[in-house]
Amino acid sequence: MNFNPTMPFFRYSRTTPDNVALFVNEKEYSYFELGAYASSVSAWLRNVFQDPGNGFKVAILASRSLETYAGILGTCWAGATYIPISIKASAASLKSVLEQTSPTALIVDENGVKKLSEIEIPANCKVLYPDEFKALLPNDVRQGNYAREISEPQSLSADEIAYIIFTSGTTGVPKGVMIRTGSLYKFIGYMQTLYQIGSEDRISNFSEVSFDFSVLDLWLTWFSGASLHVVPSSQIMAPSRFIQQQKLTFWASVPSAITFLTRLGLLKEGCFPSLRVSYFCGEPLPFSSAKAWKKAAPNSVIDNHYGPTEATVACSMHRLSDNSFLANGRDIISIGKPYPEMRMAIVDDEKRFLSAPAKGELVIAGPQLTSGYLEDETLTSKRLKVLNHPLYGPMTWYLTGDLAFEDKNGEFHHLGRIDNQVKILGHRVELEELDAQLRRICGVDTVATVAWPIKEGLAEGIVAFVSQSKVCLNKIQSILRENLPPWVLPREILSLEEIPLTANGKIDRKALVKLLSERSPNSDKSEPSAP
Ligand code: AMP
Repeated sequence: MNFNPTMPFFRYSRTTPDNVALFVNEKEYSYFELGAYASSVSAWLRNVFQDPGNGFKVAILASRSLETYAGILGTCWAGATYIPISIKASAASLKSVLEQTSPTALIVDENGVKKLSEIEIPANCKVLYPDEFKALLPNDVRQGNYAREISEPQSLSADEIAYIIFTSGTTGVPKGVMIRTGSLYKFIGYMQTLYQIGSEDRISNFSEVSFDFSVLDLWLTWFSGASLHVVPSSQIMAPSRFIQQQKLTFWASVPSAITFLTRLGLLKEGCFPSLRVSYFCGEPLPFSSAKAWKKAAPNSVIDNHYGPTEATVACSMHRLSDNSFLANGRDIISIGKPYPEMRMAIVDDEKRFLSAPAKGELVIAGPQLTSGYLEDETLTSKRLKVLNHPLYGPMTWYLTGDLAFEDKNGEFHHLGRIDNQVKILGHRVELEELDAQLRRICGVDTVATVAWPIKEGLAEGIVAFVSQSKVCLNKIQSILRENLPPWVLPREILSLEEIPLTANGKIDRKALVKLLSERSPNSDKSEPSAP
């Protein structure tokens, strides 16, 4: 079998060429048109690199544009690995990602070109600029001449790397999660079975392509012959009009989207009648938000999926019902049961399996697991471990760092993080990474960060504390701005005489949160930034 993820797209470009494959920037592209763009990008890649074989890497520095989607498809079409990079990435992390991956090619759109001016393009990396991209499409295809055959995608085995997505790392260096084509096929295959997506389905793309949530949107659409509708960046904070105008049938986003709409008073009863599936993932889903969404989308199922990038987007699910069970009186929906071929379990500090309902670290196994972190054996062996399960025997398990327990019905409940990773509007942020940056800038060790404010169980931003630093607070903020994406930037940096410590000498983040809540319980001045 050919595991190239563009194979289904290729088939649709022949069987249903006129169906819409993509709606972006007010324009529709059919399966034939987008397929022609993708195979032209693929031909360019293979021509430039003299048929380099499978496994070469192509970085996509792009935003919500045709170049992004055709670039991803074209990269996979050529049998290469795609590496999506956010244009909101700081120059430092963009440089680090390019150094770590040494891509053979870089595809950029107009926004990407501006970003590229901030760094030096790596030697031996060929850039596909927007002008060249536009010139790739032969004239007869542009005019819809179907006599021209779109070339078949390169053959790929299940073990080849489909994409590498970078997430934040505790040391300040982004880490690349490698996902195999076989894992992508397993994940999308199960989603197709679950949702029975057909050509009439209209699927949202809310997340940026650098966030692994987009993997669901893009590939579920194109594996099923449906259409993908890219939410314009201007409507991310209030996508209600877009859902209505585009008559979306499938919505997928982080739960923060519900919070934005509720706050703006846009989540009206029955306002999304076209939706039949609402897929939430990436951060805790409060029960109140899920109920509010259900009222707005009465014809839709409300599913809470859970999973880290390391397990190909998501690996467990709970569907909202009248019997949805909330752990310990918390307002958070359960993360449900693992997908049929995936396994979840709870372990203690010594990585021994615990029986339900003991609390401990959530571990995951199964065919959707990453093959490891790019060029980082140490981290790979730290997070992916062979453990001997009493029922399944020895298997590789991914240690999530999430605190959870399993209830008597086999449903898992997420209770927070064991480490200091937080989610800001769906983005994974390691507080230690920010601490490390602050220590470097301030030249002192007495720094700390906390997630704040927390609304309905969701973190909306970060506040930083520094003590005994000679660098002024404005200067610290401006250096951070140069080095970090907007969602990691502290909303405030406060100067303290001393950073509170716990009895065993660790930073007492709870005491810092208490300090903030006592100071201004409802303080929330800044605007959240888009996922
Ligand atoms: P990412 O790799 O960006 O997808 O982040 C993965 C982390 O997001 C998980 O380890 C959890 O901490 C959190 N997460 C993802 N989905 C959920 C969910 N449905 N409920 C609670 N936390 C979630």
